[in-house]
Amino acid sequence: MRKKIIAANWKMNLTYAEAMSLTDSLVDSFDDNGNCSIILGVPYIYLHELVSRIQSQPFFSIASQNCSDQEKGAFTGEISAFMLSSIGVEHVIIGHSERRILFNEDDVIIARKIKKATEHGLIPVFCCGEEFEQRKSGSHFSKVESQLTKGLMHLDESQISECIIAYEPVWAIGTGVNASPEEAQEMHAFIRKKTSERYGKKVADEVSILYGGSLTPMNAREIFNCPDVDGGLIGGASLKPEDFLSIITTMNSRIKHNN
Ligand code: PEP
Repeated sequence: MRKKIIAANWKMNLTYAEAMSLTDSLVDSFDDNGNCSIILGVPYIYLHELVSRIQSQPFFSIASQNCSDQEKGAFTGEISAFMLSSIGVEHVIIGHSERRILFNEDDVIIARKIKKATEHGLIPVFCCGEEFEQRKSGSHFSKVESQLTKGLMHLDESQISECIIAYEPVWAIGTGVNASPEEAQEMHAFIRKKTSERYGKKVADEVSILYGGSLTPMNAREIFNCPDVDGGLIGGASLKPEDFLSIITTMNSRIKHNN
């Protein structure tokens, strides 16, 4: 069965003390009954400390929100995939729309980052998703297909099996307007179909596809009930422990219900 995953993207938020306290309250209070995995995508400077804090927690792991597309050397201010794996980071978010739009990361750079991450044993959380204009004009499927083909699907079968894909429509990120369950399911099924066409059904059936975009405790249940939605990537609501825990509990109830 595909892994069910709830991932947080804290972005550039929280002081050191707030980050530690949020992590401690999640670890202390979460409901582990359904076995869903929890990934915390945190700022670089908290990675090392948080990796050691969650070391004995089987359901938790830590993600970087970015990595360099270069191996090492004279790249002032950059952090490499090799450095991340050397401190025990397991995942890296790549291709988030904020990186694509605000930092001009195109599919070529994203493909290189994905390659570096997998070379160094990091599990990429590959983000894709259309902008509002593309959805309005009906080009959302071709946009996502192009992002997948150019940014991710250069990987071979064994590498893609390790990856997590996050569908995040740009118009839903941080806006309070989530995709409807029908829109999410339709796109997730499309992503799985494209994965199947490239790598075969067995691989496609194993890849976890997360939904991201204004997920809250209020809308999580109906979105997680979609058969091709395997969890969520959560920004705003991941900063509030009670909201994030409630979303985890919703996923764990779905897992228990389906078993
Ligand atoms: C995100 O940034 O990946 C995200 C989904 O943000 P939000 O949940 O705030 O829409």
